[in-house]
Amino acid sequence: MLRGGMFIHGTNFIRQSECCQALADFFRAGVVQYPAMNDDQLTRLLQDLVRIPSVNPHGDPGTDPANTGEGRLAEYLAEFFRKLALDVEFHEVEPGRPTVIGKFASRGGKRSLALGPHTDTVSVAGMTIDPFGGEIRDGRLWGRGATDTKGPMASLLAALANAVRSKTFREGDLDVYFTALMGEESGNDGVRDLMQRGFRVDFAIAGEPTDCQVVTAHKGALWFKLHTRGQSVHGSMPERGVSAIGKMAPVVAHILGPYTEQLRERPDAVLGAPTVNIGVIEGGSQTNIVPNHCLIEVDRRTVPGEDHRQIMADLVATFPELGLESELVRDCPSLDTDPANPYVRELAAATGLGDRACAGAPWFCDAGIFSQFGVPAVAFGPGSVAQAHTADEFIDLAEVYRGARIAEQFLLNSAG
Ligand SMILES: [Zn+2]
Repeated sequence: MLRGGMFIHGTNFIRQSECCQALADFFRAGVVQYPAMNDDQLTRLLQDLVRIPSVNPHGDPGTDPANTGEGRLAEYLAEFFRKLALDVEFHEVEPGRPTVIGKFASRGGKRSLALGPHTDTVSVAGMTIDPFGGEIRDGRLWGRGATDTKGPMASLLAALANAVRSKTFREGDLDVYFTALMGEESGNDGVRDLMQRGFRVDFAIAGEPTDCQVVTAHKGALWFKLHTRGQSVHGSMPERGVSAIGKMAPVVAHILGPYTEQLRERPDAVLGAPTVNIGVIEGGSQTNIVPNHCLIEVDRRTVPGEDHRQIMADLVATFPELGLESELVRDCPSLDTDPANPYVRELAAATGLGDRACAGAPWFCDAGIFSQFGVPAVAFGPGSVAQAHTADEFIDLAEVYRGARIAEQFLLNSAG
């Protein structure tokens, strides 16, 4: 199923002997015989994950480059997988930035699913706590990634570690791929790379902070630039040139005016109305020069049923006389997974949340890419998105334990 995998070695990766030190007692008894991972061990696992910096290098500046890249965390996870006797594969998507996969092979192997949290975090610039301290206070664990998404990752790791202890699970027919994906925060690069390699499973869970709800729908994100071209002349004779800013003016007025209004009229039942924002405008170079170039950067959040290419084409076609040029920056499709999917139902049942088990979300994540390639996917994990990307990020440990128990129950029930 996976081809072209390679093992990477490098001095920047955590040394093998350092790996899982906090969990030595958990692994000592050997796979299968060990007792279930308890809450204390799960806490130490999450502490390890937070203490290994894995900041996305393409994020905001302000992070020491030594703390960027997913390599060390991937190496830690690989060691964890090996201790569980999983097959391990690395895909080095960018230098020092691998996706790592641990595969649990069941005896039957007829069905498969992926547990897919991302390994990167956003920048630590402006944080008011030690981003890599993993400090525990007030029943919370503090640090960059505690919520997004190392808390959910720890829950899923514990769930898998505990599930593989079950003889029924091992002798069932459900294979599990733990796909620890690089590069989610800057363009879903890890999951895109994985899917383009031909990776397919029957179901995927993107590990994200959803308050342990099952997010079956999220908005899509379409980021693009629009350029106008003009002709520069001296600012004292503007009538002899063509102002690129002047050409952009009606476009801005249209997008923030009638276009925004039209979007409000087409709400999705679960996700609400699509939105648009112009986040950047640039143009001209000097007061006394008629500008020959203007640029806007548009952030369009879409709902299921909207075609991203068509959205860009339609906007350009609205102004045929302006010669607008469009440039795609980021394209993450919306998510619209059937709540009646048997794996979704199993996960929803395991949450014990009844009618509130399934939800929609305004943000987007790797689940949208799994889905784009035909794999039904949801997002799930402990923690609240309100704490993600914050200056004092934390997660409630009780939620991490709850997430682990739900995910373990889901795995055991899905295999049975
Ligand atoms: Zn995330």
